[in-house]
Amino acid sequence: MKTVTIMVPAYNEEDVLYNLYARLQAVISEVPNYKFEILLINDGSQDDTINILKQLREEDSSVSYVDLSRNFGKEIAMIAGLDYAKGDAVIIIDADLQDPPELIPDMIKYWEEGYDDVFAKRRTRAGESWFKKWTSSKFYSFLQRTTKVPIQEDTGDFRLLDRRCVEALKQMREAQRYTKGMFSWIGYNKKEILFDRDPRAAGETKWNYAKLMDLAIEGITSFTTFPLKMSSLFGMIISFFAFLYIIWIISKTLLFGDPVSGYPSLMTVILFLGGIQLLSLGVIGEYLGRIFNETKQRPLYFVDEYNDKKVR
Ligand code: UDP
Ligand code: MG
Repeated sequence: MKTVTIMVPAYNEEDVLYNLYARLQAVISEVPNYKFEILLINDGSQDDTINILKQLREEDSSVSYVDLSRNFGKEIAMIAGLDYAKGDAVIIIDADLQDPPELIPDMIKYWEEGYDDVFAKRRTRAGESWFKKWTSSKFYSFLQRTTKVPIQEDTGDFRLLDRRCVEALKQMREAQRYTKGMFSWIGYNKKEILFDRDPRAAGETKWNYAKLMDLAIEGITSFTTFPLKMSSLFGMIISFFAFLYIIWIISKTLLFGDPVSGYPSLMTVILFLGGIQLLSLGVIGEYLGRIFNETKQRPLYFVDEYNDKKVR
């Protein structure tokens, strides 16, 4: 019998966990020919999440949990989950029930047909502001235009991954993770299924615009070097016009002499170039900072407890 791991990263999700567990159980009972493991990753929650997980495990041994030593963020919680998942396939699903567990039987069906990565694509996004939708669509189109890796738009982390995708992702140990891009990068047979995304069942989103901005920068810097090329491009264009301007100034001076003037144009050019240089330095800095972080080669996370046992 094949095992399917349902992996749930959870950060301060005390309000939804019982609800989630009930919904998952209902779905699991519809697909009898598999053994299910429900693997919850407690990402350093400050609320009662960990106690609820312990209680669920006590009542049901098919529930496992990994308790991280602090809050590492969803991307890291997911790699921790993949490291601990035992299944022949792993389904990643959010704790807040924004991803309907009812899609799981369909995912398994396609998996049996030979697909390695069955991902759920949002047809609609209920409960999100137009501004969030707009910024997100702009971000995706920018990312797609600047990288050769196909990026899946309107797709979250809700998906079924075959064991070989899991093994591939486990080999990618970069500390600054943009998992959504990695799913595309590893390749294998992909299949999309469409669904309508519900608003959160309870609790509140952990993403604010600052965090989303970070994730966007992460996405751009880990999948494209386009911003670095932009600096060279700016440099070339500006040098070209500067060159024309030099010829113009020299000719003018030779033909008509040079009364002292030019303070405004001088100031404009200096300020403009100064701005471009700072911007380019900033861009280089973003990449450099990432190189610095990756060269430290730190472990991605620490585990406090795995299934009632302290991890040393
Ligand atoms: N999450 C996590 N660590 C974090 C933030 C979030 O494990 O630091 C989990 C969270 O518990 C949920 C999923 O990631 O299961 C998605 O988070 P959320 O619903 O806040 O994001 P949104 O749906 O608004 O994008
Ligand atoms: Mg959510």
